[in-house]
Parts: sequence; C-alpha cells; structure tokens
Amino acid sequence: MRRTCYISVSNAALCQRCPALLAYTVHRGEKDAWKVGINGSGYYYGTLFHRNIAQVFFEAASNPASPFHGKIARSVSGGNSAVESVIRGNIFIPFLEAHSEECTSGQIMAMSRGITVLSRAMSEFFAAIPSLMRSPEENMRTVFIPPEQKLKACYDCPEGRLIVAGKYDALLFNPDRGEARLFEFKGYTKSDVTVPLSQSLIYSWLVWKKTGVVPSVGIIYLDDEGREPVIFSAENVREMTASGLPGLFRAAYGVISLKNLPEIMRDENLCAKCPFSARCADDWRSLL
Ligand code: SF4
Repeated sequence: MRRTCYISVSNAALCQRCPALLAYTVHRGEKDAWKVGINGSGYYYGTLFHRNIAQVFFEAASNPASPFHGKIARSVSGGNSAVESVIRGNIFIPFLEAHSEECTSGQIMAMSRGITVLSRAMSEFFAAIPSLMRSPEENMRTVFIPPEQKLKACYDCPEGRLIVAGKYDALLFNPDRGEARLFEFKGYTKSDVTVPLSQSLIYSWLVWKKTGVVPSVGIIYLDDEGREPVIFSAENVREMTASGLPGLFRAAYGVISLKNLPEIMRDENLCAKCPFSARCADDWRSLL
C-alpha cells in the first residue's frame, strides 16, 4: 500500500548530506545529528539575523500598518545606502539597545555585516522593478512577501507520497518581470555551500509549486569571509532542482518509510567529523 510520509525542508536537506543522519534523527531521536558537517556557530548567527533583522524588516515592508513601512517605501528607490540606513536605524539599533548584553561581539558583527550584504542584494533586485521605483507605496505588497510563511507541497515517489513543508527566510517578487528571489541567511563558511544550497533548492521547489515561478536564490553569508551573497539564477535553480530533487525525495521517502532504503555513499570529509562513524554501518543494516 502506498503510504504518505512527511518531512521538513531541513530534514530533507539533512538527507542530502547523509541518509543515515536523517535516519538517526527520525528513528533514533538523535537531536544533534543535523549538526554533523556544519561548522562552528553558523546556525546561531543565521537564526539571530533571520529572527531579529530580516523577519522584522520583511514584516514591516509587507504590512502598510507597520510604523516604519513608509520609511522603507521611501528608501527603495534610494539605493543600498538608503535601505541599509532604514534597517540600521529602525531595527538594528533598537535591537542593540534592548539585547546587546545578551549577544557576543561576533554575533553583533555578523548581524551588522548581514545588513550591509542584504541591503545591497535587495537594492539590486529593486532596481529591476520599474513599478516599484515609480510608486513604491502601491507596489510594496506585491514585491515583499510576508516572511515565515509555511509552504507545503507533495512529491509522488514510485513507492508513495512525500509531503515536504518548511518556512523560507525571505522572498521578493518582481511583478514586472514575473521573477522572484529567495534569500537564505547562513553563518556557515562558504566551504559549506552545499548545506545551505540543498535547503534553498527545496524551498525554491516549494515556491515554484505554490506560485508557478522558479526563484533565483541569494545565499547571504554572515561569517567573516562572506561579504558578497552567492546568487544562483532561476535557470541554475531550475536545472539543479530538476536533476537533484527527485532522487533526494525518493531517498528521503525510503528513510522515513523504511522501504527501499537508499545506499549510503560515505563522504570521507563528513564521516571524519561524525560521532556515528564507528557504528553507522551496523545501525543502517539494522534498519533494513
Ligand atoms: S559516519 Fe558518514 S555515513 Fe555514517 S552517519 Fe556519519 S556521515 Fe553518515
């Protein structure tokens, strides 16, 4: 009988790194398995920036009732320094006044860098939207999509149905060209690019299923080296999702349903950092 299984975007991306890590998470309750292969404090930098800067900005930009919606509207045609100044004055400084004692200097620096990079990346996107440049107040709601929306879509594997769900970091639309850009904020070093990329491709697939538009992807790094966002065009995203996601979803379905478990391809760099290295082959066989 075909069964329906559910998976979060983050767990599907974990399966991309290693199906056994997904199995440890969902079948053995190993809550830290997702951290294998992720360097340092990156996750916390990304989460801090997302919750306290980007989410607040996108909420205000997409909601005309917000007290600084008008300031954002006036800044979008002023280039990156105008956008950056609104974010710093209305979001970052109030955050620091309330929470700086709870943050490390590294976290504060990462947030500050993220504001500069995000402002520049968004301003480039805005510049290609003539309707927004002409009448920002009237067009903000079609450009800025409210953050934290849960997207859900199903993928029919030969063995059964997989329902994939998750909340993206930030999404912009260009209604004039029918384009979209998904932003993900990561504190990982750039050497970990496959970690945020696989997650972003799954969110892109969800955006495409919901809107019919394949977004381009901007990954914004908050670490020391990551001063420029890494942009993947919509065409790149289309090719990578078409070539990578069917196999990934089928593998994830196999792990969750415990039917047709995929082969584990050992990645020596990843396995060298993995606490399950000595026993994962036996544990995997026990699931078969
Ligand atoms: S040792 Fe390697 S193959 Fe085994 S669970 Fe860890 S990452 Fe996966």
